[in-house]
Amino acid sequence: MTLNEFYRRQLSLWPLASDNVRALFSVCSRALLPAGHEEGMQFVLQHNPARARSTGAKTDAASVAARPCFLCRSSRPYEQIALSPGELGDEFSDLDYEILVNPYPIFPYHFTIPSVSHMPQVIADDRCMRFGDMLRLSRAMEGMALFYNGARCGASAPDHFHFQGVPSSSMTILSTERSVPFLTYGYESGCYEEMLEWFSRAVAQARELPVPEDSAADEPEPRMNVICTYIGGIWKALVIPRRAHRPDFYGTDAGQLLLSPASVDLSGTVIVPVSAHYEAITPEVLASLISQTTYPLM
Ligand SMILES: [Zn+2]
Repeated sequence: MTLNEFYRRQLSLWPLASDNVRALFSVCSRALLPAGHEEGMQFVLQHNPARARSTGAKTDAASVAARPCFLCRSSRPYEQIALSPGELGDEFSDLDYEILVNPYPIFPYHFTIPSVSHMPQVIADDRCMRFGDMLRLSRAMEGMALFYNGARCGASAPDHFHFQGVPSSSMTILSTERSVPFLTYGYESGCYEEMLEWFSRAVAQARELPVPEDSAADEPEPRMNVICTYIGGIWKALVIPRRAHRPDFYGTDAGQLLLSPASVDLSGTVIVPVSAHYEAITPEVLASLISQTTYPLM
């Protein structure tokens, strides 16, 4: 089965997913440049009410422990089907993941790719083999951009390891010729081992950055978003080190905005679930969102 066949089949079986994909074609969006970076990469605000559950997700340990894990097979909706990487090619059959259609998409073709077992959201383990999995999954899903949101960098399921995937053309940061207004580490190669070595170095560099003020002692890896794509034999990957999970104006009270940036937001599409907030975001707000949650260029 191809990824496209799987996707179509899932939409035909699950009204929630197909309705939310259809709703995407009428979401409002507008372009915006962050104040002070007018010559740089362009961002697009997307007003997407269906994403409130993700942007507003409570990710503290108590809230996570109190809910059934929506990425575990046993508690998924019955309409949700899964594709094994092995169905995309025999060489991927040892990858212990399942490809799912995300029922709350940001773009058409939005997948969630959880590990089969319930394991924490940590990509930078000893040998960075989760990043190795990311490289291979990107190859299995050529043309898609896979991304990883760290446990305190936008993931709404910090207790169950997962990637997400969207078309790489949706991620402006992968193709822009303009400057990106925050620190990133990037690399391109057709060699798997070289990519793995680069990633270990990038994680080591991220560890050297000033520790975030709200950092908890038990965080197992530097905070980061990771993006990876494979096109025409070449992997391209980016690490975005993060110094805060959310800006200090995060919230739904007066004067606050429900913005919780993750890979997609920092790649150029800022998701805004609340209509009034969508209207209220100025170039200055966008600049503040970026400067509070990422590290400045060095
Ligand atoms: Zn789980």
